[in-house]
Amino acid sequence: MSETRKSEAAALGIEKLGHSYGARRALDDVTFSVPSGRFSVLLGLNGAGKSTLFALVTRLYDARQGAIKVFGNSLRDHPGEALRGLGVVFQSRTVDLDLSVMQNLLYHAALHGITSADGRKRAQELLDWFDLGARRNEKVRSLSGGQMRRVEIARALLHRPRLLLLDEATVGLDIKSRADIIAHVRRLVAEEGLGVLWATHLFEEVAKDDSVVVLHHGKVLAEGPVRDILREQGVKDIKPAFEKLIGAARPNPAEVAA
Ligand code: ADP
Ligand code: MG
Repeated sequence: MSETRKSEAAALGIEKLGHSYGARRALDDVTFSVPSGRFSVLLGLNGAGKSTLFALVTRLYDARQGAIKVFGNSLRDHPGEALRGLGVVFQSRTVDLDLSVMQNLLYHAALHGITSADGRKRAQELLDWFDLGARRNEKVRSLSGGQMRRVEIARALLHRPRLLLLDEATVGLDIKSRADIIAHVRRLVAEEGLGVLWATHLFEEVAKDDSVVVLHHGKVLAEGPVRDILREQGVKDIKPAFEKLIGAARPNPAEVAA
């Protein structure tokens, strides 16, 4: 990556973010940034805090501790600008099964204040991109799980966000649908310069050229280009790197006993 791209404002900046559910600390002093125009993975086991982070970034919950910025816009001080830069696909499916593919998209375009003619044109472009153009008038109910996910991703891009967040986008899908979705999203990064934060617990979804944020029990254990993390950990794959990182984060039994 060139120096100029490196110096651009981060697509997403998270600083000292914390969140608790009652006594349960779900995120603790979380700091990292997502570069624009790159595929970044938020990697963590179930319960790591990935969905909680998404809920804070999308303002489902108020961030009481720490700060969140989208392309330099503070979510607290300029929520409108910050959220406009952001497209989101949540972990649970949120398409209306009884509406057509196109209706699902048009409804969303209207919510974003996009006129119906513009919305229809943009929706068609996106559906074509996701190989769903021919299915536009079918009810979402008739689609496969992978196709529904692609509808949701297309919908998240209607307002032309420069950063796309996806929470476990491939969960519950067969291998072919998973590969297909991740390939479509990677193409958006390569060809359209979109920044992506891809939350997953699946090591096989991390590629050598990605950036990664390793989240474990609500804490960031490592952040940066995958290659750098592999070099630092002295291993060839992300899984052993992850295992070494969580091993090192565990309290030392000798110290606990002392
Ligand atoms: P992930 O998405 O990485 O699986 P979550 O953000 O869903 O992780 O969960 C992080 C932690 O917060 C877990 O220990 C989970 O049990 C807890 N948690 C998540 N949502 C709630 C909630 N609504 N109420 C109480 N605890 C929650
Ligand atoms: Mg989750």
